[in-house]
Amino acid sequence: MQHSNYYRSFLIKYAEIGVKGKNRYLFEDALVRQIKYSLKKVNGDFAVTRTSGRIYVNAQSDFDFADTVYALKSVFGISGICPMVAMEDEGFDRLAEFLVQYVEDVHGQKNITFKIAARRSRKDYPFDSMELNARLGGVILDAFPAMRVDVHHPELMLHVEIREKINIYSEIIPGQGGMPVGTNGKAMLLLSGGIDSPVAGYMIAKRGVKLDAVYFHAPPYTSDRAKQKVIDLARIVSRFSGPINLHIINFTDIQLYIYDKCPHEELTIIMRRYMMRIAEQIAQETECLGLITGESIGQVASQTLKSLAATNEVCRLPVYRPLIGFDKIEIINLAERIGTYETSIQPFEDCCTIFVAKHPVTKPNIKMINKHEKNLTEKIDELVEAAIETKEVLLVQQ
Ligand code: ATP
Ligand code: MG
Repeated sequence: MQHSNYYRSFLIKYAEIGVKGKNRYLFEDALVRQIKYSLKKVNGDFAVTRTSGRIYVNAQSDFDFADTVYALKSVFGISGICPMVAMEDEGFDRLAEFLVQYVEDVHGQKNITFKIAARRSRKDYPFDSMELNARLGGVILDAFPAMRVDVHHPELMLHVEIREKINIYSEIIPGQGGMPVGTNGKAMLLLSGGIDSPVAGYMIAKRGVKLDAVYFHAPPYTSDRAKQKVIDLARIVSRFSGPINLHIINFTDIQLYIYDKCPHEELTIIMRRYMMRIAEQIAQETECLGLITGESIGQVASQTLKSLAATNEVCRLPVYRPLIGFDKIEIINLAERIGTYETSIQPFEDCCTIFVAKHPVTKPNIKMINKHEKNLTEKIDELVEAAIETKEVLLVQQ
């Protein structure tokens, strides 16, 4: 953005569809809260205000424009970020003069097409929107003879909003979309070091859901580097979701016990069932209303419909699988966009790869799985309890 030092204010656009009545206030309150939270990381003081269905961010000190836009682009619920100038209403002639100066300063005298998009939100203003469009259009044409009007596909859209003050802006930087985190409860993400689960967490957080996460590691079969990678991934996701409580579970004894007692081609499924059971137990202790996984139909043996049914069977909480119908390439594209991909492809083993059988079942028979899990009766409850009791909890944030 060329004229970043010109602006001191941003108009925040958000989608209002489906946000009516009382929910609208909850939505706007959460949005203001998340904006303030995100701006804490930026150098500068900001006032975030809400007036008549509009949210504004006003810089109160020197600030870094690029960092501010980056922070605002991290907030779910924002559909557009408009760098804006505001002027007092001192009559039409002054507005005309101001607008000409704005175009000169921000866009220069270019050979471009434009359109005025005026909006009168205050009925005591002498001209309505149509009249304002015509009058201001004439003013711009007089001042910049090289510019032309194009009402369908203008290169420059000049927004002029008559409110308490007059807001002028000409750029809408796309926001992250979605709903502000905190408007839809909390869920527990099963976060591995892979490509998929961080993306799954991002997608659910985008619907306004706060995240907790759980990671199962198996030292010494999995390294500290593998664990650090998961912490790094949680931190990247927290750019969007806000702080994440990451529960780290030592899964080694459970895995070894399963390895010892159950048929090896069923290991992955049985392990995944214990991950779900433990995740659900922690979810209930932390008031999470569902589980989230990065599963996608057919991606690996443990994600056929039969395998998914077998892992799903042990949960009572809903399991959200936002990537269920995505191709790997679509998931990778999203991972690249949110910045997790580079970290995900670092080659540190995750706990499943070590205990993986040569020929895992792709069509597990739930009856057989349940039967083989009976081999675990003697010690499994004790091991699960110990794993939960010795969990490590880290608060991960940007
Ligand atoms: P990912 O890229 O997310 O690791 P994957 O393709 O490796 O996925 P699986 O290993 O079958 O798939 O795991 C499916 C899902 O189970 C993951 O997306 C994740 O939600 C969860 N999961 C797998 N391993 C772990 C783990 N060690 N800790 C926490 N969750 C896990
Ligand atoms: Mg994995």
